Amino acid sequence: MPGAEASRVAFFGLFALQHRGQESAGIAAADGENINVHTDMGLVTQIFRERDFYPLAGELAIGHTRYSTTGTSQLCNAQPLLVEGQAGRLALAHNGNVINALQLKRQLQEQWNCRFTTTTDSEVIAYQLANAPGQSWEERVFYCMRTLEGAFSLVALTEDTLIAARDPLGIRPLCMGKLGDGWVIASESCALDHLGADYARDIKPGEVVVIDRDGVRAAVRSSVPERRAMCIFEHIYFARPDSVLDGTLVYSARQDMGAQLAREHPVDADLVVGIPDSSTAAAVGYARESGIPYSDGLIKNRYVGRTFIEPEQRLRDLGVRQKFNPLAEVIQGQRLVVVDDSIVRGTTTPHVIRVLRRAGAKEIHVRVCAPPIKFPCYMGVDMADQDELIAANNTVEEIRALTGADSLGFLSVGGLLGVAKGEQGGFCDACFTGNYPVPVQLQLGKLVMEPGE
Ligand code: SF4
Repeated sequence: MPGAEASRVAFFGLFALQHRGQESAGIAAADGENINVHTDMGLVTQIFRERDFYPLAGELAIGHTRYSTTGTSQLCNAQPLLVEGQAGRLALAHNGNVINALQLKRQLQEQWNCRFTTTTDSEVIAYQLANAPGQSWEERVFYCMRTLEGAFSLVALTEDTLIAARDPLGIRPLCMGKLGDGWVIASESCALDHLGADYARDIKPGEVVVIDRDGVRAAVRSSVPERRAMCIFEHIYFARPDSVLDGTLVYSARQDMGAQLAREHPVDADLVVGIPDSSTAAAVGYARESGIPYSDGLIKNRYVGRTFIEPEQRLRDLGVRQKFNPLAEVIQGQRLVVVDDSIVRGTTTPHVIRVLRRAGAKEIHVRVCAPPIKFPCYMGVDMADQDELIAANNTVEEIRALTGADSLGFLSVGGLLGVAKGEQGGFCDACFTGNYPVPVQLQLGKLVMEPGE
C-alpha cells in the first residue's frame, strides 16, 4: 500500500471479515525495517484504539480474526503470529487447519530448536516457512506446501515483503484486489468491496503471490493435483452472501440451493421464513421455486454474534436465546416453512421452533439447506467432535422429534453438488459423506497441540 498506513486498511478489512472469527484479532505491520504486531481477545472494534495504530506504521500489513479450530481460545493463540527462523522474521495469519501439524512441530523442535509459544497449527506453519530452504519466498512457500497436509490460506509478512498462498486443493477461499497503487488480499471479496478495492481474482489453489518493492509475482506449484476441494460449507453458511467465491456469488449459490431444497422437499404451507441472516437467501430460493410467499418471520438482534462459531456450548446457548425475536402478527395462525442453512449441533433449531410456536405458528416445517452433518471437519470448521453432531447420532425422524418440528427435510448431497458452481470446480463434502480430500487421522481434535494431550 504505497504511501499508506496499511494497518488502518487492514483494520477495515478485518471489520468486514468479523463473521469469520470472533474470539480474537490482530494486525502486524512492516515498515521496511521492523515488524510490529498488536493482538488481543475480542471483536475487532473492541481491540483497536487509535493509540494502537501508532506502532503499526508502514506500507505492509496483515490481519486476522480468529475462530479456533486447533488450540483453545486464548491470547497466546491470537494471530498474526511473529516468529524467527533461518530465513528471518515473519508474521503469519492462517485460515484453515493443518492436520499433520503435530508431526511437523516435533521435527521443527528437533531440527531447529523452535520454541513454540502457542497451541495452534498456525505457529507450525509460521516456523516451517521461516526455516524453509530456498533462495526466494516463492521457493520457501512451495517447500512448505509439499510438507503441509490440510487446509491453509495464508498471508505472511517480512520486514519488506507480503506473501499470500492457498493450499493445493483450494479448501479455504482467498482473493486479491487492487486499491489505488496497492494490493489487498482477503479471505472474501466482501472485504475488498468495503475497502473500495477492485476485485482482481481468486488466488488459485497451490498458488503463491509475493508483493514487494519490485511489484507482484505469482506462481502456481508445478505438481498441484487436478482435484479441487473448496469447502462447500463456505457456500452454505460460512462466507458472507455478498462475497464471490471462486467466481460464484454466495447469495446466488444459496438461492439455487434453496430452490433445489423446494424441489426435493415440497410441502403445503402459507409462508416461507428464513432463519436470519445466513438462511435468508436459501429461503428466498425456496419461496421462488415453491410459489409460497416469502416473509421475514424472525428479527435478529444484530449485536449478537454468530452462535455456531462460539467456542463453548454454554456461550452458544446464551447467544441463541438473545438472538431472535418473532414477528407475531406475521406468523400467527400460519403454516410455516422454516428454512435453516444447516443443523450442526442442534443448538439453534429447537429454540427457533419454540419461539415461533409461542408466537402462534400453526405448523412448522423445517427445511435444511444442507445434508445432515455426520462427520467431523478437520479442515478449518470447528466441528471436530462427532459426539456433538446431532445428525451423526440421530435419524432424520429423531432430529425432527428433538427439534419439535412438524416435518423436517434435508437437502441431498447429490442435490447440493448438482447446483453448486465454482470456477475451480470440485468441492469438499466430507462432513456429509465422510469422503475426506486428504487422509485424516480420526483421533485428531481441537486440543491436539495442548500440553498433556
Ligand atoms: Fe468444509 Fe465440511 Fe469439508 Fe470441513 S468437512 S472443509 S466443513 S465441506
